[in-house]
Amino acid sequence: MKKTIKKARWDATLDTDVCDKFNNADLTLTLKLGFKQVNPSGGKATGTYNDYGSNTGTARKIVRWTPAAWNTWKQNFVTSAQKYWHGKFWLINNFSELEYEDSGVKYIPNIWCRFKLQGSDSMPSSVHHHTIEVVRLDKSETWFGSHSRLYDSLDTNSVQKGTDSKGNPIMQRAHVHEVGHLLGLGHVDIGKPHCPPGGNTNLGPCYGVLDKDKNSVMGQGMQLRDKHANPWRTAIIEFTKKGNAAKASDWAPKTSRHYPRTPAEVAAKTSITKKPNR
Ligand SMILES: [Zn+2]
Repeated sequence: MKKTIKKARWDATLDTDVCDKFNNADLTLTLKLGFKQVNPSGGKATGTYNDYGSNTGTARKIVRWTPAAWNTWKQNFVTSAQKYWHGKFWLINNFSELEYEDSGVKYIPNIWCRFKLQGSDSMPSSVHHHTIEVVRLDKSETWFGSHSRLYDSLDTNSVQKGTDSKGNPIMQRAHVHEVGHLLGLGHVDIGKPHCPPGGNTNLGPCYGVLDKDKNSVMGQGMQLRDKHANPWRTAIIEFTKKGNAAKASDWAPKTSRHYPRTPAEVAAKTSITKKPNR
């Protein structure tokens, strides 16, 4: 069985055709991005563009994209962001959902979370989930104020976003953080007293106060947390109509492979993390 649901943020495809005694079901989130060049006005080779695309932002020097620079940038963006988010979580199926048989034995699969990023500037805009504009910074510029729909040519580089309590730099490649936003994830400390959900969730403390939170990819760093499996959990709940995303034990995320289980193993809450002898 292969089923797809299309949402405003992404498409999700659940594939149980791959299930056997060793392989779980695949759940692929596909994000379709339209890329759009921001070039200096009037067809000029150089110009300026303001931080955050805002009238009040600082003007930064930009240069016109060349076809080669544009293709390289897009390819690097797509490849590296897809690699970061793809295949990192397995969701534990504690329900009797998606049961199948292999060699006469019944199994219940867990869910492997896959990610596909498609980027194109030729698709009609109605096909994209999001359109992203990109400025090409002049060599003299080291920083530009970007957000999840406006990037600069340096956003795929690893840069220092913060410092931990021991004085170590915390590095981040901005585009993987921004793709997290596009998947539906918010900043790490939203919901804590210093970052109330109703306030401005882009303020400094929302990016983490404790080292552990600062190092989250939805903070200032590059580390994944269980919470980051929520887009896939939301999708599997929609497919199966079973479970509640607010309940941590429903479709609980694991960061290592958990093999399919028999109904008896599910009932006994057995985890199978090493290739079973079947
Ligand atoms: Zn952010």
